[in-house]
Amino acid sequence: MRVYVDSIGCRLNQSEIESIAARFREQGHELVDRLEKADIVVINTCAVTGKAVADSRRLIRHAVHQEDVTVIATGCWAELEPQEIARLSERIQVVSNQDKAKITEQFPVSGHQPSVAAARTPVPGDRFRTRAFIKVQDGCDNHCTFCITRIARGRAVSSPATEVLRDIEWAAAGGANEAVLTGVNLSSWGKDFTPALGLTDLVEMILDQTDIPRLRLSSLEPWNLDERFFDLWENPRICRHIHLPLQSGSDWILKRMGRLTDCKQFAGVVESARRIVPEMAISTDIITGFPGEEERHFEESMQFVRDMRFESGHVFAYSPRPGTPAALLPGRVPPAEIKRRSGLLRSVFAEQGCDYRRGFIGSELDVLWESSVKGNNGEWQLKGLSDNYLRVVSVSSTDRWNQIDRVRIGRMEKECLLGTMIGKVHSSW
Ligand code: SF4
Repeated sequence: MRVYVDSIGCRLNQSEIESIAARFREQGHELVDRLEKADIVVINTCAVTGKAVADSRRLIRHAVHQEDVTVIATGCWAELEPQEIARLSERIQVVSNQDKAKITEQFPVSGHQPSVAAARTPVPGDRFRTRAFIKVQDGCDNHCTFCITRIARGRAVSSPATEVLRDIEWAAAGGANEAVLTGVNLSSWGKDFTPALGLTDLVEMILDQTDIPRLRLSSLEPWNLDERFFDLWENPRICRHIHLPLQSGSDWILKRMGRLTDCKQFAGVVESARRIVPEMAISTDIITGFPGEEERHFEESMQFVRDMRFESGHVFAYSPRPGTPAALLPGRVPPAEIKRRSGLLRSVFAEQGCDYRRGFIGSELDVLWESSVKGNNGEWQLKGLSDNYLRVVSVSSTDRWNQIDRVRIGRMEKECLLGTMIGKVHSSW
């Protein structure tokens, strides 16, 4: 059968949809790049914000408009509001997060021998990625008051190291030159084992026991990182990029959010990272308009964001998620004010991004090419990401898609750096 998979939201959802796609492939199904071509559509939904729910709903509605298609909805929104999804159409199957790994079992292909050794290759369609997203844990034991994800995902459960190592080897066998570790609370990996382990242990094992050329860590809650953590960057295979969600630069708001950090501790983590890797790209998330956020808290937050010199930041306009403690807090900020604050913060992040990028003009970066298009003059136009998460554009006489090349950066144009290729760093062909 022809299968289309898609996901909304975080890298964890992307990682899960890549695994579901791989299982369909193993069972002998064909993956297609457009929903309109499919017999089966699987959508991994998200509920982190009202917008994520609206996007999930839109995608499911679009899928059920196709004739003769089986639509399966899973993920956080499906977990939290299964009835609401089922009401959209009686043709939708809603599958809980716990059962999503078994989705493929209901579509056996007669006579096909499942191949456990099949390499993991990119998912066709909009979710096509050269980087392999590897899920290493699920759930979270913290109680941030705004967070619906921990309610949808339950308690923290780490994947055994052997499983993670196998998954990375499998991705490398499929041609991946970069693995991205993902989880709901990645920095808590191993805390639920006896004896407990830490993320540092897992990364060391990956670097020692796999050949993946590049390893990236996705969002890390800025606590649980042990003293050895930043020493890992002595190995050049780890990308010089960390994402530390701050959520607010006001201690009063952080406390109200139930975060396990404050500005001083957060600044300490940033300082530790820069002590080892001065040019580390550090990105973050901020929620604007959290209940009770007054102008003075927002100003404090803006100043702290400026002081941290982030490489980039995502700004989320607060939207109350039913079932979370924050939804019951007094002090709602009017939507127009949330919009104004979000706009101001976005311009600070835009300036910071520009400053950070400018610092690499004249230097050399290793770039993994994520897209390649042949131009009329026969040259390939390449776009990719450096290890420190900068968008780089270049040209080549050959197609270098999914390869890592060294590029000398010449100039900056909007959010991209333009450069000249000076050599191959890693080719899997
Ligand atoms: S640590 Fe992250 S996943 Fe856990 S409750 Fe807080 S925001 Fe949610």
